Amino acid sequence: MAGLFNTRVSPIHPSYYPRLSLPKVIFSPSISSRLPEVSLGLACSTMTPLRPLTLMAASLEPAKTISGTQFENTQPSKEVLEIWCNADAVCFDVDSTVCLDEGIDELADFCGAGRAVAEWTTKAMSGSVPFEAALAARLSLIKPSLSQVQDCLEKRAPRISPGISDLIKKLKAENTDVYLISGGFRQMINPVAVQLGISPENIFANQLLFGSSGEFLGFDTTEPTSRSGGKATAVQQIRKAHGYKKLVMIGDGATDLEARKPGGADLFICYAGIQMREAVAAKADWLVFSFQELLTSLS
Ligand SMILES: [Mg+2]
Repeated sequence: MAGLFNTRVSPIHPSYYPRLSLPKVIFSPSISSRLPEVSLGLACSTMTPLRPLTLMAASLEPAKTISGTQFENTQPSKEVLEIWCNADAVCFDVDSTVCLDEGIDELADFCGAGRAVAEWTTKAMSGSVPFEAALAARLSLIKPSLSQVQDCLEKRAPRISPGISDLIKKLKAENTDVYLISGGFRQMINPVAVQLGISPENIFANQLLFGSSGEFLGFDTTEPTSRSGGKATAVQQIRKAHGYKKLVMIGDGATDLEARKPGGADLFICYAGIQMREAVAAKADWLVFSFQELLTSLS
């Protein structure tokens, strides 16, 4: 799997989504509810409700093709389509899939540690450092306080990928359970989940820990997503707990691809609308560049 991390990564069209030039509020109704309270465990404060947030959605459709790159899996086989259309659960990666940005990079940049953290991210992506070590190293550079996380969410509201809201609505309407599986932070994913109508129990992500004054304490190392192979573990746990017969994983990264294994996901759909990781895309059961493709196939 490490080899998958060493391959070329092509940001497809970062200039398509300049944060400041996007329409400010796309969602209707705009999110204004208080976020659910999150228990941070013993010796830590309960997270206070965050201030109301406004999420932003990109309004431009992603590029359909990547020049110079050809893949044979952009059309689903009959078997793949059969599983997709009959899945009883769909798990989505968050960073560069449900959301346009990488949450930890946004937080690092907001806290003034963007460059140092980016170097660690590169190491993490090379596969030379265990995920948990890279996560700990990056957080020790950021040391985000609770108020910084709140401010970051308010001033750099998560940007939702085009088409994801409609796709999740359709899945839910067909009684397909939807999960968010992320190596990012629950506190930053909660507002996205609220907007998409996904309950907190269906989020599998890392938990930042804060002290009674809101100071950074660390992260919950018992979360499966805090470790290498954690997404695969989370998906296996979900499947076992609910007895799902057909489960699909959708994401852009090697850790999402890892979730396709016995007892885990039956199908891995690579979403390359934001980041194209060529080795991951090549191994996917189905490569898509927009969520509209997936929505259309359900109709
Ligand atoms: Mg991702």
